[in-house]
Amino acid sequence: MIFEHIENNGHEQVVFCHNKDAGLKAIIAIHNTVLGPALGGLRMWPYKTEQDALNDVLRLSRGMTYKNAVAGLNIGGGKAVIIGDPSKDKSEALFRAFGKFVDSLGGRYITAEDVGIDVNDMEYVYRETEYVTGVHQVHGGSGDPSPFTAYGTLQGLMATLNKKYGDEEVGRHSYAVQGLGHVGMEFVKLLKERGAKIFVTDINKDLVAHAVDEYGVEAVAPDEIYDVPADVYSPCALGGTVNELTLPRLKAKIICGAANNQLANNAIGDEVMKRGIVYAPDYAVNAGGVMNVSLEIDGYNRERAMRMMRTIYHNLARIYEIADRDGIPTYRAADRLAEERIAAIGKLKLPMGRTAPRFLGRMRGH
Ligand code: NAD
Repeated sequence: MIFEHIENNGHEQVVFCHNKDAGLKAIIAIHNTVLGPALGGLRMWPYKTEQDALNDVLRLSRGMTYKNAVAGLNIGGGKAVIIGDPSKDKSEALFRAFGKFVDSLGGRYITAEDVGIDVNDMEYVYRETEYVTGVHQVHGGSGDPSPFTAYGTLQGLMATLNKKYGDEEVGRHSYAVQGLGHVGMEFVKLLKERGAKIFVTDINKDLVAHAVDEYGVEAVAPDEIYDVPADVYSPCALGGTVNELTLPRLKAKIICGAANNQLANNAIGDEVMKRGIVYAPDYAVNAGGVMNVSLEIDGYNRERAMRMMRTIYHNLARIYEIADRDGIPTYRAADRLAEERIAAIGKLKLPMGRTAPRFLGRMRGH
């Protein structure tokens, strides 16, 4: 049953990690290492069943293969989950036990923060293995990825404006930004700097008030964001907001934002195309965070990170070319770009050593 599941998803290796004394039950899924070591975050979640945890880690690690491939990184896809409640089951021993398992893989899997994990947890993981990104900046970590994600989203937006309107002038168009968190607020700032008309919403009233005061945006209630007369709908909060109920309400001709899993399902993605709306595939647009963290592998440099964000423009342009070439929706074209790149690089049969982590100049935390 388990092998069938793994085979269907195309995974290379799935590691079940158990340490009784530390209370560790974790699964590390390495989906694909053709492009390089598998990089993907560690999630801690009180899964109802072990099967739920397995399903999640298999799905998420496969997603990382596609995301890293489209981002143009020499990095494969992986992910890890710890079964437990982040509000009460965390301990030094738990994360160090997990770190030992990561280390035992010799760099085939590099971990990072994800839901339920913070930089302090990563400090413990880092005591046992150097195959960690997203550690504290004092250890050469890259810090908060959100400004990079926002800037990368802006690059993706410009490529999408070019596709839809034949211009890249952000300020000539209007925007509906949903979510004013770490990424959304920064994105609003970037749009405002370019003179755009912006509608915003958030369930957090303080954030809305801040955006209105600081950037002179127009605030609407959370459910009204789908009805505003904006050219671009920019989901920067939750997943699944492009669905059967919201799509008929959207006036926008472009969907481009940082949120993960924006399309409720593939059928909606097909419908988006039928309606002549250009959808900027979420995992290509919001790759700024993973690009940023990937630079830790060779020694982090902020300037390099900002330059790297600009490649998101070209990645999106390439996705639109493939969509036109093959007559397929953009969400499928993004997957195709990833698959074509993995196939082409796989044929070169490069040894993984070229991209193995070196973590230059980094002092171990103990
Ligand atoms: P965040 O938690 O800082 O912000 C999310 C915001 O959305 C919050 O202010 C929250 O109040 C708001 N929100 C929640 N439900 C809402 C609703 N129904 N209507 C309106 N607003 C709502 O998260 P973030 O780091 O800014 O990330 C935003 C999205 O981008 C997430 O989907 C995340 O997975 C994705 N993402 C983030 C990064 C990154 O670098 N932070 C990278 C890739 C993808």
